[in-house]
This record gives sequence, structure tokens and C-alpha cells, in this order.
Amino acid sequence: MRTPIVGGNWKMHTDRAAAGALLSALRANLDGLGGVEVVVCPPAAWLAVAADALRGSSLLLGAQQIHPSAEGAFTGEISAPMLAGMVDFVIVGHSERRHVFGESEEETAARLRAVLEAGLRPILAVGELLEERESGDTEVVLRRQLRSALEGVEDASTLVVAYEPVWAIGTGLAATPETAQESCATVRGILAEILGDAAAERIRIQYGGSANAENIAGFVKQPDIDGALVGGASLDADTFAVICRTVAGVA
Ligand code: PEP
Repeated sequence: MRTPIVGGNWKMHTDRAAAGALLSALRANLDGLGGVEVVVCPPAAWLAVAADALRGSSLLLGAQQIHPSAEGAFTGEISAPMLAGMVDFVIVGHSERRHVFGESEEETAARLRAVLEAGLRPILAVGELLEERESGDTEVVLRRQLRSALEGVEDASTLVVAYEPVWAIGTGLAATPETAQESCATVRGILAEILGDAAAERIRIQYGGSANAENIAGFVKQPDIDGALVGGASLDADTFAVICRTVAGVA
């Protein structure tokens, strides 16, 4: 019932020429693919270029980050209303924002609200550190992150959650499908506590963390995994296309 969704998070990679080439190749490979939503998340510098390159295609566009305020004296920042009409999704709470840039759960919550207020769809990333997993705190961390991000959110119908264990991101050490399923089921259970069973059943939960063309099939077979948020493997159009086709069930 849930249409799977694959996001490609390019992070701070590509120059203008490489971004243009990747966008063209993605459009050529993936436009019109049914059974999956594909969201391309290039660096902010290329969002306008990407919006032009993808216009009229089935590929959706996502931003990697926004500032929680609508406008103001915030040099270097981009607000959600500025992106409304240009992008479809915004990633919120990515582990690099939380752990490299030290963004708090309060800031993450404010960004999530700003995305929703601008009429954009959030991909809320949550996940535990290795030491939190090893000390048995994964569920506690996921509950804290989800509760804090969703506090006061009344309509979460456009929400996508990306379960991304921090130890698996960019490390080549993906979670096993079973571990990912267990955590995604935990996420869905927590969403049900916060938003109710019906809403939780409708929300798409992605797995993220070293997902690639070889391991993606194992993840999407799992009942609570509805696609993937892909970093490194989204920078190669052929690899990303295989991932999207596998998730769509046409690989
Ligand atoms: C990410 O950036 O969200 C991610 C999952 O990266 P990678 O696929 O490279 O681990």
C-alpha cells in the first residue's frame, strides 16, 4: 500500500558540469519508472539547475537542509519558503547535521516545522550512534529523536522517515536487513505512539547507511522498509538506477 521512495543524497559532491551530467543521466534512466518515487537531493548550489533539468519528469527534487526561519539576517542560509515551488522534499536531521554540525533536537524540530509550514515534504532522518546501539539504547534514541522532532506536529501525512544508523553511513558497513527491519519496525511503533496506528501505517520508512546496488534487495523485502536514502551510491547514475529499479521491483 505504501509506494516505496528512494532518495539520492549527493551531500557536498559534484561540480556544476558533473551535476548536469548526473541529472541528465538520471532523467534518461529513471523518468517514468513506476512503483517507486525517486527523489534527487543535490547540493543547494545546483537546486535551480536541477529543477530545470528535471522539470516535466517523474523525478522529484529534494534539498539537503534549510534554515528554520522564513527570512532574516542569516548569512549563507536558505529558507524553506525560498524553496517552495522549486523542490518537493527537504532532508531534516541528517546525522551529519546532528553530529558534524552539532544541530540539536530542538533545531531539528524547528526545521521540520518550517518544512511543513512551507508546504514541502520532510525526510526526517533518525538513527543511533554505534555506542548507543552497543549499550542497548537504540530504541530510547529513536523514541527521543522522533518525539522531539514531531512534538506539536498535527498533520504528518507527508512525512517520510529515514532510519539511518550513524555507524552505517558512509562506512561501507551497512546494517543487515534483519537489523534494519527491527529498527524500522521500532520506528513505526514509535510513530504509532505519537501519531496513531493509521498514520504510522501510512508513513514511509527508508533505510539508509551504505545501501548499494548489491544489498538493496535485502532491505526492500522487509515489511517495514519502504525504500532507501542513499548517499555514496547515488552519485553514479547507473548504480542509482539499479537501486531504484530494484526497489520498484523491475530490476
Ligand atoms: C546518507 O547520506 O544519508 C547515507 C545513507 O550515506 P551512504 O549511503 O553513503 O552511507
